[in-house]
Amino acid sequence: MQRPVPEPATATRAIHHGESFASETGTVMPPIYATSTFEHGNPGGFDYTRSGNPNFRILEGVLASVEACTHATVFGSGVSAITAIVSTLSQGDLVLCEENLYGCTVRLFEQVFAKFGVRTEWVDFTNPSSVARIEEQRPAMVWLESPTNPLLKVIDLDAVCSAARSAGVPVVVDNTFATALVQRPLALGATLSLTSTTKYINGHSDALGGVVCTDQPSWHQKMVFAQKALGLMPSPFDCWLITRGIKTLPLRLNQQMANAAAVADHLASHPAVSWVRYPGRDDHPQRAVALRQMNGGGAIVTIGLNASREQAYAVCKALRWFTMAESLGGVESLICHPATMTHAAVSSEIKAALGISDGLIRLSLGCEDIRDLLIDLDHALTLLP
Ligand code: PLP
Repeated sequence: MQRPVPEPATATRAIHHGESFASETGTVMPPIYATSTFEHGNPGGFDYTRSGNPNFRILEGVLASVEACTHATVFGSGVSAITAIVSTLSQGDLVLCEENLYGCTVRLFEQVFAKFGVRTEWVDFTNPSSVARIEEQRPAMVWLESPTNPLLKVIDLDAVCSAARSAGVPVVVDNTFATALVQRPLALGATLSLTSTTKYINGHSDALGGVVCTDQPSWHQKMVFAQKALGLMPSPFDCWLITRGIKTLPLRLNQQMANAAAVADHLASHPAVSWVRYPGRDDHPQRAVALRQMNGGGAIVTIGLNASREQAYAVCKALRWFTMAESLGGVESLICHPATMTHAAVSSEIKAALGISDGLIRLSLGCEDIRDLLIDLDHALTLLP
């Protein structure tokens, strides 16, 4: 005779209660799968969160759909996503890099991967001779950002990717400043489209993340391998936050871009401002390329003040609605003085060569009412003589 199964004890119930909550509750939002490991042989194919988790899979699904590609792999930060790609290189490989890359990407190449024999050459990809360099050098990889930081140079992705395709060279585009809503690097021929989801994708400055998108299964496998082998995965909670954030990306970005365009136009005729750089303006040096490959001008505006380092810093500090902070892409406006912040460690010669003057200021427009932002900027600029 079969013995009756006793009711589980409190300790057992405390651990196992609610295991089937999804079917019982009909939850509309995904739960946070805060688990390090999974029962062997589960239908989802999960084994250990370093190599996959339902929250990663949900976010990867949305990101691949927004990017209109077949594969997305999520990472713990934009820098983790960059590390995953660079880790596929071998000793002696050459990477042809755009000279205006995010500072941590430069640091990773020069202070970490250089030790393992990965070589870099830095070029200005707005110069056609640099595009020709791809054919001459046949590097292992081409790496660029567009628009660049902080001068918002727009690189002709189609031209670079066509040259690279003929030479059989993979192209990585860091699409963080544009996002897939504004620019689709894969459709323009890139092999990998990388985004720091910390910025616009999440949009609320409360989580870090990164993603690499591709249509090539072999590159997808390399990214999945790097996620697991190098421990570059995100946390389920951050994926959950970013999955929530991306729901409002189109709304936020449209508002942010409208604010950026209005701020750029307003400051262009302001007597205290020497110049304005915004890809959505007709006076942008690569406006024709921007019109071809971007669906809007983005939400970053860079300006030059006729001011000393101290005066420019004081203007940033005097603002009420713009927090002086690194990063970008959140619903709140931020302002950055690269000479004393993001590029503080860069030598004055390199800063001068890159065009990063003491009076240069980068604004990341948020979703505030434009009238408040313009009043705030006008007020802070009265500090200048
Ligand atoms: N790429 C660009 C263009 C960035 O601006 C940043 C961060 O500012 C990153 C990558 C790195 O992203 P994360 O801070 O998420 O590591």
